Amino acid sequence: MNPVADHAPVLADLRAAIGASHVLQDGDLSAYERDWRKRWHGKALAVVRPGSTAEVAAVMRVCARHGVAVVPQGGNTSLVGGSVPDGSGTQVLLSLGRLNRVRAIDVANLTMTAEAGCVLQAAQHAAEEAGLLLPLSLAAEGSCTLGGNLATNAGGTQVLRFGNARELCLGLEVVTPDGEIWEGLSGLRKDNTGYDLRHLYIGSEGTLGVITAAVMRLYPQPAASMTALAACASVTQCVALLQLAQTRAAASLTGFEVMGACALSLVRKHFPQIPQPLPPSPWTVLLEVSDAESTEHARTVFEGLLEAALEAGLLTDAVVANSVAQSRAMWHLRESISMAQAEEGLNIKHDIALPVSRIPAFVASTDAALERAFPGARLVNFGHLGDGNLHYNVQVPPGGSAADFLREHEHAVNTLVYDAVQAHGGSISAEHGIGALKREELAQRKSPVALGLMRAIKQALDPARRMNPGRLLDADAPARPTAAAP
Ligand code: FAD
Repeated sequence: MNPVADHAPVLADLRAAIGASHVLQDGDLSAYERDWRKRWHGKALAVVRPGSTAEVAAVMRVCARHGVAVVPQGGNTSLVGGSVPDGSGTQVLLSLGRLNRVRAIDVANLTMTAEAGCVLQAAQHAAEEAGLLLPLSLAAEGSCTLGGNLATNAGGTQVLRFGNARELCLGLEVVTPDGEIWEGLSGLRKDNTGYDLRHLYIGSEGTLGVITAAVMRLYPQPAASMTALAACASVTQCVALLQLAQTRAAASLTGFEVMGACALSLVRKHFPQIPQPLPPSPWTVLLEVSDAESTEHARTVFEGLLEAALEAGLLTDAVVANSVAQSRAMWHLRESISMAQAEEGLNIKHDIALPVSRIPAFVASTDAALERAFPGARLVNFGHLGDGNLHYNVQVPPGGSAADFLREHEHAVNTLVYDAVQAHGGSISAEHGIGALKREELAQRKSPVALGLMRAIKQALDPARRMNPGRLLDADAPARPTAAAP
């Protein structure tokens, strides 16, 4: 890609394509240029806000003509520095925010067709209004968008039962780097007509094209759901409780989240108004059972499960939600951990996946190794245990400077944790993606054959390397978004 010396012709063409009022250059653009964690702050050539797929295509054609790089952005909730421009002032930030319509809900086909900029929560509400369920749910759902969810193959809290964003997607509409529109919104459950292009774009983090719309699977609403918090003495007990829950509740088990003591202590510190009905314990599990039959059936399954767990000594205490409000409060507690961590200050995040069976050994040995190497550092562990996904985060010792700790130790902490993840057969990114944060790790740890295939795909679909340069694949471009002083 050639750097653009004179930006005036690009800007003039962008204004002609989508209207001057949707090409932003002046004023405070930090909502687009700074990431959610405040780790990266870039500078866009312009923020463009097209209002339709045709306008996205027009923007892409202008950028292709002028050799300008494009960073697609949805809700800008990326936790890996994937959604903000670099500091060069030469990249166009393409915000999908105005493509936010639910185009159709097909009740008989159990599908929703919605635009990429549709906020996840709005899509959930639209499904609910049609009496159906869109079972994609994450703490950022009030801001993140369907396009971003698909571009990162988001996970969240219901993967255990319904799968991640990839498994919920039946079709895509995509604009290519050259401005062509691929319309793949058939919504078919069976379609074996060659390579499944949808799966290339899902999880591609804006490096291959722009997702403009998607067909998502919907499900019938459950007749009833029950939620509980359970206290466990160790992560080994959490894993045993998961096994018991899977045996007794089978497909009705829709949530199994774990929260370590340090994670909940941060919520207590920063959000004291959020109820924590159980006294502190090493681990707290949030369990949810959803049932297609009836409330009575759900209650019977749930109470039987908790009694069996108590008898087996897998939990030390439990509290069952008695109302929808109490259930929501339990989920709110779980979902507040990331915010509480952000309030506490910058930290070293590890979004890792492991075989569930290896988690107790991983946690025991890696906790001990971190404590030995970085005395006083706080281990803020929580996550989707049912999916083998831990947010295994490291926070500076109390009272210490986060900036100094990261500067001195981030690399060593990452090496220790990711070496352990690899030794246990895991992945360095379970659901957040690679972005700018982990591209060097990916380059070092992914097999050369896999990396070669990925680069070949990139070369085929974005030969000019204008799509989200510097993210995901190491060889894209030297430029990373500027890391802000923590
Ligand atoms: P953005 O942040 O705007 O972009 C993310 C990436 O996708 C970027 O690389 C961007 O270029 C690309 N992109 C965005 N839109 C498009 C598009 N239309 N076409 C092509 N590329 C595009 N993630 C989980 O998986 N599970 C969780 O439980 C979870 N919890 C979170 C909790 C909090 C509090 C926060 C802040 C984040 C959490 N995340 C989680 C991470 C994040 O919310 C998800 O990755 C989300 O899917 C990103 O959506 P977005 O619309 O904000 O995308």
